[in-house]
Amino acid sequence: MYQAPRGTADILPEDQPLWSFTAATVTQAAHVHGYRRIDTPIFEETGLFLRTVGEETDIVQKEMYSFDDRGGTNITLRPEGTAAVCRAYLESGMHNQAQPVRLFYLCPMFRYDRPQAGRFRQFHQFGVEAIGDTNAAVDLEVIQLAMDTMRRLGLGGMKLLLNNIGDAVDRPRFMDALQEHFRPHIAHLGKDDRRRFDTSPLRLLDSKELARESFMNDAPKSTDFLGDEAQAHWDELLAYLDDLKIPYVLDSKLVRGLDYYTRTVFEVHPDREGSQSAVCAGGRYDGLIEQLGGKPTPGIGFAAGIERLILNLREQGATAGIVPPAPIVIAYSGAEAKTKAVVIATELRAADVTAVLAPERSMKAQMRYASSVGARKVVILGPKELEAGVATVRDMETAEQKEEPQGGLLESLSN
Ligand code: ATP
Ligand code: MG
Repeated sequence: MYQAPRGTADILPEDQPLWSFTAATVTQAAHVHGYRRIDTPIFEETGLFLRTVGEETDIVQKEMYSFDDRGGTNITLRPEGTAAVCRAYLESGMHNQAQPVRLFYLCPMFRYDRPQAGRFRQFHQFGVEAIGDTNAAVDLEVIQLAMDTMRRLGLGGMKLLLNNIGDAVDRPRFMDALQEHFRPHIAHLGKDDRRRFDTSPLRLLDSKELARESFMNDAPKSTDFLGDEAQAHWDELLAYLDDLKIPYVLDSKLVRGLDYYTRTVFEVHPDREGSQSAVCAGGRYDGLIEQLGGKPTPGIGFAAGIERLILNLREQGATAGIVPPAPIVIAYSGAEAKTKAVVIATELRAADVTAVLAPERSMKAQMRYASSVGARKVVILGPKELEAGVATVRDMETAEQKEEPQGGLLESLSN
């Protein structure tokens, strides 16, 4: 028998109430902050991600689902949202609208990741992007939106980790300092880290292989290399966070796994022992739009993994959910009653009352079916009812039964 491909999962009907709740809640958080939804295609030309995400990143090195389509174009299943949203921003002329443009997305992503709890090959992200404004108040807003999303979901104990990795002007000095620091330890670096040493020394800070080496502790900090503008922007952001009493932890190792980030970067983690997985991650990307051929345009955003949010909701015992209405089941016996049942079901649905026909079996089996699908009420059409032109309505909660004229069913079942 076939199974779902490794790293994918079905979202079964019983999982849907929590998924619907999560989707509705993140959407509401985005709307309250003035963000409007955008959907981009599930696949893009591969070059879009190569150019923006960066050659030395996990995503490009080992995680993309790329293939030539039948026309010979190299296509990649979307591994992340920001590059595609920025492509759409330029392509649809949003740069001509009043800035910043505030957008959000909620959609599947694809990465050839190593499957484990909270890590899939097809997963979903809720992400936001504020494009076209460098103001520190926008950084604050995006961070607040991330934390407000947690609050609205009812997720407690979430920790905000924050860093500033500087911008294009500050970067070269910091890179030099990093290379100087790591050079004496070059013999300890594996093959990948050796390459990163040359091409992308920032990546060494979040290398999983190096995490426990003692020489990581006194590695240079990007925040010691900020130029005047970046420093003023950073000070302003921290002042807002302090004023608003939003707790945060400064983490100089936080550099984020994508190349396009500048200045502010942040992650949100469950604040418990052994949790190494971020539920939400983001940062500023002031050079990205220009890299895509637009004029220099700043941007900042984050993405939160829906599966990880739901994992944490379940761990915290979430019971919330958006459940579809319990149905009215219509049970019948005989051909004439069956025709009546079909008509009644049709009328109920037309009035937005959820109605399903019981399967054509014994009356007893039909009643069992009704209780197994969680019916609110059952409409019974047997020979006795047909003769009298009525229907018996059974309340499944109280087990009370009463006869109703067939013409009055709609009214009595509407609530
Ligand atoms: P990690 O270090 O856990 O691989 P990442 O840096 O690759 O994370 P991002 O690209 O920042 O992750 O994605 C943002 C968020 O998307 C993550 O914080 C996480 O919640 C979620 N996410 C990323 N990869 C996966 C995955 N393979 N399965 C489920 N959720 C994921
Ligand atoms: Mg990853």
